[in-house]
Amino acid sequence: MSITALMPVYPRCGVRPVRGEECHLIDEDGTRYLDFASGIAVNLLGHSHPGLIGAIQKQAETLMHVSNLYGSPQGEALARKLVENTFADTVFFTNSGAEAVETAIKTARAYHQHEDGDANRTELITFTNAFHGRTMATISASNQTKMHSGFMPLLPGFQYCEFDDLEAAREMIGPKTAGFLVEPIQGEGGIRPASQEFMTGLRALADEHDLMLVLDEVQCGVARTGRLYAHELYGIEPDIMASAKGIGGGFPFGACLATEKAARGMTFGTHGSTYGGNPLAMAAGMAVMEAVANEPFLASVREKGERIKARLQQFIGNYPELFDLVRGEGLMLGLRMKVESRPFFVHLRDNHQLLTVAAGDQTLRILPPLIVSDADIDEFFDKLSAGAASYDIPKN
Ligand SMILES: *Cc1c(COP(=O)(O)O)cnc(C)c1O
Repeated sequence: MSITALMPVYPRCGVRPVRGEECHLIDEDGTRYLDFASGIAVNLLGHSHPGLIGAIQKQAETLMHVSNLYGSPQGEALARKLVENTFADTVFFTNSGAEAVETAIKTARAYHQHEDGDANRTELITFTNAFHGRTMATISASNQTKMHSGFMPLLPGFQYCEFDDLEAAREMIGPKTAGFLVEPIQGEGGIRPASQEFMTGLRALADEHDLMLVLDEVQCGVARTGRLYAHELYGIEPDIMASAKGIGGGFPFGACLATEKAARGMTFGTHGSTYGGNPLAMAAGMAVMEAVANEPFLASVREKGERIKARLQQFIGNYPELFDLVRGEGLMLGLRMKVESRPFFVHLRDNHQLLTVAAGDQTLRILPPLIVSDADIDEFFDKLSAGAASYDIPKN
């Protein structure tokens, strides 16, 4: 037998972390890494946040799981907190980002299949280079053939449109269109923010045609951009939104948020989850919201983000053959390269103990914990500079 005990779907690297201390990871042989990946935009309070640990410990001792057949004071409290701080009137808790997007897709379809709706409207317009997760519906929602291959047939009900092309989106609207599903800032696609015109335009088209504007804020949401949710940067509100990744600060859960109108089809018995919103997840989520959903914290993310962005812009001027541009918002930053980003990301990791994330469009993702300190930022630039100076562009 040659298959590994862990199903070999990830090309796992030699970094094998066993402990975390704020913005650092320590691997099983004691090597310290600076973590500017945050488990892919998850550990927004770093790795040893006393508030988050304490909340999980206390809840684990008190009550870890009960069924959604019972009342949930913990779930109600966190749902209320999200409702108070966002566009939403109601929240469904899930266990992951893909499930939050699945719930968002179901909510958008159910809106039109409601007795006051038009049941022909079953198709969501989605966008090129999007990433929405790895379930059948969420891979079907993405145009990326590398995620489809081997898993045919796809689920019907998705039409792919060029990202950030408002005219193309307008032309695609037909009698079967249910809405739009879009990341305001594409994550896996390479930290590509949608333009103001595109986001405002999709909102206007949705209003004009009674369509659902569904946002996937699984990566860009929860204070990552210096706003609680990234759509606030554009001054628009969605009808439905998926959130996850940072929402539990490392405890796995997600949420689908919606307005009352958008959720009109989500009635008793239409949807469910065994674990979704269990007391342990809710305790983690409440600790995260208490830490991040306040103006001083959000302002600190914007300030640190602007500082890192300005320094990156200055830095890339020293290596015009390597780097193209810096983009992103808050602490969701992308360094677009003139060469493949993956080998450089491996070089930073293996030779300079700096963890980042490679992404599409030749981009290196810079996603530090939101509690990143000035000393961590200095260490980041030391490692990045040393990494750029020692880098031999691979020839192939
Ligand atoms: C990570 C991600 C998902 C999927 O989340 P999982 O928790 O891995 O299922 C969906 N959408 C976006 C934008 C993501 O970045």
